[in-house]
Amino acid sequence: SEMRHQRVKRTKTVCTYCGVGCSFEVWTRDRHILKIEPTHGPANGISTCVKGKFAWDFINSPDRLTQPLMRQGDTFVPITWDAALDLIAEKWGKIKEEHGPDALAFIASSKCTNEESYLMQKLARQVVGTNNIDNCSRYCQTPASMGLQRTVGYGADSGSISDIEMASLVIIVGANSAESHPVLATRIKRSQKHRGQRLIVADIRKHEMAERADMFIQPNPSTDEVWLSGVAKYILDHNLAKMAFVHKWVNKFEEYAKSLEPFTLEYVEQVTGLSQDTMITLANEIAAAPTVCILWAMGVTQHCGGADTSTCISNLLLLTGNYMRPGTGAYPLRGHNNVQGASDFGSMPNIFSGYQKVDDAEIRGKFEADWGCTLPVNKGLDNREMIEAIHAGKLKAMYIKGEDTITSDSNANDVGEALRKLDFLIVQDINFSVTCEYADLILPASPSLEKDGTFVNTERRIQRLYKALEPLGESKPDWVILQMIANRLGAGWDYKHPSDVMVEVARLTPSMAGVTYERLEGFKSLQWPVAKDGTDTPLCYTEKFALPDGKATFWPLVYVPPSEEVSAKYDLHLNNGRLLEHFEQGSMTYRSPGIKEITPENFVEVSPELAAERGIATGRYVQLTSPYGRVRVQVLVSDRVKGKQLYMPLNSVAEPVNKLTGSHTDRATHTPAFKETSVEMTVLPEM
Ligand code: SF4
Repeated sequence: SEMRHQRVKRTKTVCTYCGVGCSFEVWTRDRHILKIEPTHGPANGISTCVKGKFAWDFINSPDRLTQPLMRQGDTFVPITWDAALDLIAEKWGKIKEEHGPDALAFIASSKCTNEESYLMQKLARQVVGTNNIDNCSRYCQTPASMGLQRTVGYGADSGSISDIEMASLVIIVGANSAESHPVLATRIKRSQKHRGQRLIVADIRKHEMAERADMFIQPNPSTDEVWLSGVAKYILDHNLAKMAFVHKWVNKFEEYAKSLEPFTLEYVEQVTGLSQDTMITLANEIAAAPTVCILWAMGVTQHCGGADTSTCISNLLLLTGNYMRPGTGAYPLRGHNNVQGASDFGSMPNIFSGYQKVDDAEIRGKFEADWGCTLPVNKGLDNREMIEAIHAGKLKAMYIKGEDTITSDSNANDVGEALRKLDFLIVQDINFSVTCEYADLILPASPSLEKDGTFVNTERRIQRLYKALEPLGESKPDWVILQMIANRLGAGWDYKHPSDVMVEVARLTPSMAGVTYERLEGFKSLQWPVAKDGTDTPLCYTEKFALPDGKATFWPLVYVPPSEEVSAKYDLHLNNGRLLEHFEQGSMTYRSPGIKEITPENFVEVSPELAAERGIATGRYVQLTSPYGRVRVQVLVSDRVKGKQLYMPLNSVAEPVNKLTGSHTDRATHTPAFKETSVEMTVLPEM
């Protein structure tokens, strides 16, 4: 047994699923994962959820890509890495020569490491010469970042998970935290039980946290901005605002107060459906609470007014003095393990690492000097603009890394049509995804357990992951692949290890100046911004806000109704979200048999009223049709949804909800309005 014990390897890693960023040790013997042991993770202590603990079988799935594949007619044939690199050099060279560097575009991955996100944007900018790079935060959290950048400075959680835990009042708006951020939700549940923390939930669907809430409000879809502004107006009108804080710390008070004028209780009731009594109770409770944290996610951001609603949340926190103190602040909950890091490390069309703007000549000059090149001046295309540019014949080649674009972007049929028009599409992933079917070249990548690097969780915490397993077959860590491509194009990169990349990031990025692998060893972590001496920032804005004059600013707004409302034909509102057991389209979780058994196929929740009206019960199949596509799905009658609202988990490749979602986007950020979808439901004959 001693022999057996010696073969067991324990490796510290960070969960590959959600943005809570649980860290733990993984016990392996050869390629077998024996167990996951949380010991003392800074974000999770000794907890994990079902995904972190059990959803790792995908690592050894027979579906893993293990060699580069090249399209030949309707099939794919294996080729060597050398041939793959030659093909890239040839195709990119030709396209760049004929159409210029902006005919190429890059999609980075929120599942990859920070170092990989940094290298992807460096490849796009330094080697190819374009700012056309984006990542999937465009599908989820860019509106939240925008709301916070407008008002307080950093597009990120203003404090830590421990602040949420210690707040006297937590408000969750449009986030199904018990399923999407399970370990974080557990900390709220514990606080509610043992510390008397109050919980208010605002959602159109009665999910688990809504059931646990002290107060649950169900506004009409796409009207959060209205009740948030109504609460702010009531607080202001009844002298409940923290005016000393406002005068000292917040600009534009007069303009903001004026912008709230339309949001009377009568108006709010009419638009949101919330009674005036509910509004008064809500406003009084928020105003009276000593410390408030507001948490939100895609129920807020995936609307045409996603950035504006996020801004309203921050405005309300400023008016009630809920910044700058422990137990207060704004918490957009990041979905993927590293969606925060993908943006932090520069995979966006307008910024380098640390949100340094590409159109700032001084910043560009710094990168040009370090990288020895001339960099493009103008902001590049975001995800949505890339699809439009393909349709317009301007974008000819794309390199998509670690993302199933077809099923994650809205209006899947339209996105598929676009990708088919490309002259050359590279898809790099661990499994053969739906998007791979559209590729000209498929590159096999390694998942988190097969590489070194760092991730950033929802609370800006940078954590180290270590290689537990060797890459399977000929798959390689993404950073290795990026370097091979760069060097085939003549770049001369020489990174021996991801830590070399971090040295460069720290040198060029003020908010990461003190980030080093030594300071991240084992379970150690750092929350950015990190000063050169290694001092990090669990709670932002203790001395000033991150805007030019050190003060925050109110951001006055005008409410604009949703882009798509129910009509005579498309008479039902379709909402979508996550399931606890699965992650995104299930590329990893559906390849874990135990997990697949719990929730084998997709379903749509139908309210008891609607089910009675249409004469259907749980288990019946229906067809949902929108102007953009249709899916066939099983009914689950549930009182979690009400009236003519439907809810469908997004975790399905077979019947993806994004065949139904349209191309409307958030006005400020182009994030698709996934949550503004109207459908028609046809009951299918019983089988
Ligand atoms: Fe992983 Fe999130 Fe679950 Fe933690 S809560 S184990 S980070 S999926």
